[in-house]
Amino acid sequence: MDYKRIITHVFNEITSGENLGQVSAYIPELAEKSPDKFGVYLTSLNHLEIGMGDHQEKFSIQSIAKVFSLTMAYKMLGEKIWERLGVEPSGTAFNSLVQLETDKGIPRNPFINAGALVICDILISQLKNPKAEFLAFVREITGNKKLSYSEKIAASEKATGYRNVALCNFIKSFGNIENAPEVVTDFYFHLCSIEMTCEELSKAFLYLANGGKTFDGNNPVITTSQAKRINAIMQTCGFYDESGEFTFKVGLPGKSGIGGGIIAIHPGKYSIGVWSPCLNAKGNSYRGMKFLEQFTTETRLSIF
Ligand code: GLN
Repeated sequence: MDYKRIITHVFNEITSGENLGQVSAYIPELAEKSPDKFGVYLTSLNHLEIGMGDHQEKFSIQSIAKVFSLTMAYKMLGEKIWERLGVEPSGTAFNSLVQLETDKGIPRNPFINAGALVICDILISQLKNPKAEFLAFVREITGNKKLSYSEKIAASEKATGYRNVALCNFIKSFGNIENAPEVVTDFYFHLCSIEMTCEELSKAFLYLANGGKTFDGNNPVITTSQAKRINAIMQTCGFYDESGEFTFKVGLPGKSGIGGGIIAIHPGKYSIGVWSPCLNAKGNSYRGMKFLEQFTTETRLSIF
């Protein structure tokens, strides 16, 4: 498979096409990014690495970090975590409150904000020093010691994250948050604030392409079954109410963030990080989705 030729061709086509949507204005730090930024990086299990465009510029990974927190909680507690949240697509926006009332505070899945907050609560109850231990875990599984939180972005989210505060308090009213809401949201805002490049993103997620083992050294991060299940949840819930569309067009497990990043995984083959800050109405990167759609079409490789 000539990945390099296909990536170059698709990248150039997408760059010369439309760039629809809006850069997220959720916090000023996200709004600052130029809409024209566009980077792609692929790392394959047979040691191929291909980067294009702004693949070495850091951006805020936002909701992509929810995959790391799920990985850590799942590793520590196993199937027990599913007593506190589900694995069903919500069909609602990432920050929606609506289903929680009828679902009695049990979020539909770990990738909507409600579910990610419950995962944060689980980790806080398990860890002595949640922020430091979570960062150490992410550094270890990604093999990247340089990763860190952006205190500036975390503070900015804290100052404006009213919906997340509402979600956390609402879930607590049903008894599905054990810790103080301000502690849970502080941890959540920190994990969303991690900054990475497309290259780092693509390498970080190789454990999900590699059956739950680290790429360098084949050390188990999670079991093969857990890796399969996390990929399955990414497939069905990774893009909120656009998860069906992403599956339909791209056909790979993936996760997006409102910083404009997307990680997509071909289990057994590769992991690809894409970044373009203009978001569509569902909060997913317009060019990122377009690129991946054309990439899996031209390679004729998807999991389907
Ligand atoms: N920090 C963002 C929020 O909580 C993450 C959302 C996202 O990336 N979709 O609203």
